[in-house]
Amino acid sequence: MDVDSDAWRGAAAAVATLTFDVDAETPVLAAGGRYSRHLTTMSHQAYGPDVGVPRILDLLDELEVPATFFVPGWVAEKRPHLAASIVERGHEVAHHSYSHRASTDMTEQAQRDDFERALAVFETQGIEVTGHRAAMWQTTTTTMELLAEHGLSYDSSMMADDRPYLLKLADADVVELPVHWSLDDWEQYAFLPEPFVGSLIEAPSKVFDMWRDELEGMREYGCLFNLCLHPFLTARPGRLGVVRRLVEWARDRGDISFERCRDVAARVAEFGGVREVYATPTEIDPETYPD
Ligand code: ZN
Repeated sequence: MDVDSDAWRGAAAAVATLTFDVDAETPVLAAGGRYSRHLTTMSHQAYGPDVGVPRILDLLDELEVPATFFVPGWVAEKRPHLAASIVERGHEVAHHSYSHRASTDMTEQAQRDDFERALAVFETQGIEVTGHRAAMWQTTTTTMELLAEHGLSYDSSMMADDRPYLLKLADADVVELPVHWSLDDWEQYAFLPEPFVGSLIEAPSKVFDMWRDELEGMREYGCLFNLCLHPFLTARPGRLGVVRRLVEWARDRGDISFERCRDVAARVAEFGGVREVYATPTEIDPETYPD
């Protein structure tokens, strides 16, 4: 029997996943706990969950599209009603580390502790998470093994394809829903001088053109348009219109489906046929490439 490598898309020419990384204060605190005393910096980050998320939820209601919210455990813990307010509106909440520190800078034990601490927060709040996105999109083999060990079905942090693929581990597989820097609002709007996280304030009209061009190409090649948005960046009034216009543009094409990540991952797991990639370090000669 032939395996249909496009079965994960169903009847759509391309699948779009709107994803919101509700990082709030965590990326700044990961740069140094002292920033907790920088009130303006903290307020810039708090805008995301406190002003941005409710505004985004209203827009998604109006557009009738489902989305996925990747929430660090620390953020969910500080705002105990946040995750439930998202799930209540029909959207997905997924694991986005506890502290938003990069896995690549942590020991294996520290990665485990951080990962499991986030799981415990969501369990306490009655939020069922089935997917994961690594903080800063920085993953290690340990990250993927933790996903498999705890029964999470997908990750969304890597870039080996522009369609879903299967990450092969020693004893398990994890579905990967790939991301890319070109579909991340951080690369368009992130501006914070201290700590430095970026120096960009691009025009929303330029951002819309760029993302629409990518979505057009992805229709042609049958891809996953996995858009990564941050409420503290994208929920500002002039920028949120980009999301609205993109959804409306896609609707006019008539062959692009909007889905939660967990639903796409479930279809990949059910139908298979996608590429397989080993989640192992690249072999090198350490004399040629010393650490
Ligand atoms: Zn993040």
